[in-house]
Amino acid sequence: MNKPIVSSAAKGVFINNKWVPGASGKTVPVVAPAEGQVFAAITAGNAEDVDRAVAAARAAAEGGAWSRFSATERGRLLSKFALLIADHAEELALIEARDTGKPLKQARADMVATARYFEYYGGAADKVHGDTIPFLPGFFVTTEHVPYGVTAHVIPWNYPAQMFGRTVAPALAMGNACVVKPAEDACLTPLRLAELAAEAGFPEGALNIVPGLGEEAGAALSSHRDIDFISFTGSPEVGVLIQTAAARNHIGCTLELGGKSPHVVFGDADLDTATSVISNAMVQNAGQTCSAGSRVLVEKAAYDTVVQALADKFSKLTAGTPEMDRDLGPVINATQKKRIEGFFARAEDQGVPVLASGQIAEGTPAEGFFVAPRVYGPVPRANELATLEVFGPVLAVLPFDDEADAVRLANGTDYGLMAAVWSHDGNRALRVSRGIKAGQVYINAFGAGGGIELPFGGMKKSGHGREKGFAALHDCSQIRTTITKHG
Ligand code: NAD
Repeated sequence: MNKPIVSSAAKGVFINNKWVPGASGKTVPVVAPAEGQVFAAITAGNAEDVDRAVAAARAAAEGGAWSRFSATERGRLLSKFALLIADHAEELALIEARDTGKPLKQARADMVATARYFEYYGGAADKVHGDTIPFLPGFFVTTEHVPYGVTAHVIPWNYPAQMFGRTVAPALAMGNACVVKPAEDACLTPLRLAELAAEAGFPEGALNIVPGLGEEAGAALSSHRDIDFISFTGSPEVGVLIQTAAARNHIGCTLELGGKSPHVVFGDADLDTATSVISNAMVQNAGQTCSAGSRVLVEKAAYDTVVQALADKFSKLTAGTPEMDRDLGPVINATQKKRIEGFFARAEDQGVPVLASGQIAEGTPAEGFFVAPRVYGPVPRANELATLEVFGPVLAVLPFDDEADAVRLANGTDYGLMAAVWSHDGNRALRVSRGIKAGQVYINAFGAGGGIELPFGGMKKSGHGREKGFAALHDCSQIRTTITKHG
């Protein structure tokens, strides 16, 4: 792989379409997960930088050029940005692959999805209609969706470019001005995307980025007195901090906090397809996907067949560097690797059987954060592998007795982000799917993170609010009702 020159590294903070030096003068080193070595640096944004970015966004949203764009003009601009992302897809994919460690083919697919967010919301910008509401005689009532004003976006490291597109595209489409705090572990593509947005023609202040540490730049942004809404994706712990900061400011937020998403597999399903989809989806992004289907619940009669198929598939999975382009890359950092290995060590102590383990390709740097994928089963129902989000390439298989037991088990964690039901009995599949508390449920398919058109978000402790689809446009705008009394 041609190692990308990272042009935007430590250039400063991106405000009013320009790089300006960070107030602290400090930087944060960026480590390539496949190499275990520092390869770039980002500016350590602080509260002063956040102040400047929020002020720029406020000026853009209220009276600035951005506030005068019609919905159609905003849509055209988003569509133009989508084309520019597509034109730069290979450059962006190389940066993303080195920054996150993911295989190049996955980074390339991520850039297609990132461009698609702007394409989709570009097309949608002028199609968000209000209502007319029948009311008392002599009154005429309309509603319209108006932007919040300044929206804050705190995004994670697992899909830096896609997460940027997922949260920023609908907010811009509705006319908000955005301030983004990308994750310190991987944020080089969002920084490059900001430059491309300026090139596409977004006016000053519409899109601003403050890179830096979560406890500094992230905390300053989420508690800033002059933001109107926060969108957050990341850990439940930081989600509490974000929601608390939003409450102190009396503003709204959307939270996407991950999951422990179940596949419910009945014996009458196409088990070969099901197990292929399940194992491939599980190792996508080395298992660091909020919507990863990390629990496989199997009807007892089919348990042996399913575990045999999953074990066969997992034993062939190989982790490698981005340029090796194998099934998965390394995990994001040393802490995450240690955390996952902690799950492995405790599972061994507790006697949870390993059904199969994949491998790490020869020639991967010893300093890289590689974890060989594993499938465990039968996992006891209360075991942490069956209840906690590992955020690594680890699958837990559990048998169930009957339909009622399957639904109980599927709903048996704090989370409710995604699920899949595998069965050729259409009535049963639909019945079971409707019993599962999850924001998205697939039947005979599974698309972790897929489908920009499809509303996505959590039930239960996976969070609240919806991204993707038209639902996101409604979530990042507010309804104004106009009540007119006529004679
Ligand atoms: P995190 O929640 O700490 O980081 C997510 C974002 O929040 C980053 O931009 C970070 O800088 C920011 N942040 C951190 N502390 C903050 C604070 N005090 N105030 C405001 N913003 C802050 O996630 P992590 O530590 O990078 O990962 C830990 C775990 O989170 C993972 O193991 C995984 O379980 C989960 N996670 C989930 C998702 C998801 O898509 N749902 C994504 C990443 C991580």
